[in-house]
Amino acid sequence: MILESQDLNGQFDLMQNILEINNLIKLISKLPGLGPKSAKRIILKLINNRQELLKPLAQTLNEVYKNVARCKKCGSLKSNNLDCDNCQDSSKKYNKICVVENIADQWTIESSSIFKGYFHILGGTLSNTNSQRKEDLLLDSLIERVKKNNIDEVILATSATVEGQTTAFYIQDSLKKINIKVSKLAQGLPVGGEIESLDDGTLISAFKNRKGLNPESD
Ligand SMILES: [Zn+2]
Repeated sequence: MILESQDLNGQFDLMQNILEINNLIKLISKLPGLGPKSAKRIILKLINNRQELLKPLAQTLNEVYKNVARCKKCGSLKSNNLDCDNCQDSSKKYNKICVVENIADQWTIESSSIFKGYFHILGGTLSNTNSQRKEDLLLDSLIERVKKNNIDEVILATSATVEGQTTAFYIQDSLKKINIKVSKLAQGLPVGGEIESLDDGTLISAFKNRKGLNPESD
């Protein structure tokens, strides 16, 4: 109840030095958009709602930690208990694979409803400073998926940054060994623009006006 009255007063300093709480504040402060003040507010809310929030959150975090990881084939998130719903063959999906840098990009494109095919999540971009990354991009698996899932087009949807475009070029080059149509999202993506931060209109237009990269097609 002491915590609650502090909450009501708008004073979020805990006044107490509890190791567990301090550790939690440090961790929550590292989350996007949250600083120590928001972290304290969140923790007070959790502690004041032990059964309804704190306990299920702790259990759910533990379950996510144990059971959810990147799929080794497509790079998207999957539950260990289920087949990957992104790369599993489905008659409901287009025979196309959209290559994005990260899962946030996948979620953005999915919520725009412009694309109902498969995704391939690179988990980053190639950069000059890190030569180890090429294997992490799961490109062998991308080629395997193209063959196995009867894919007719690979759409490169990396960011309009130098790293994003370098990565797109590298993937395009890697796909030359198989006969597959490769296209890239249209210009109109703002330079430096990350897919995740695009509005639906820009994204839809970039998909609709995507450019073929194969010499023999457009
Ligand atoms: Zn998968």
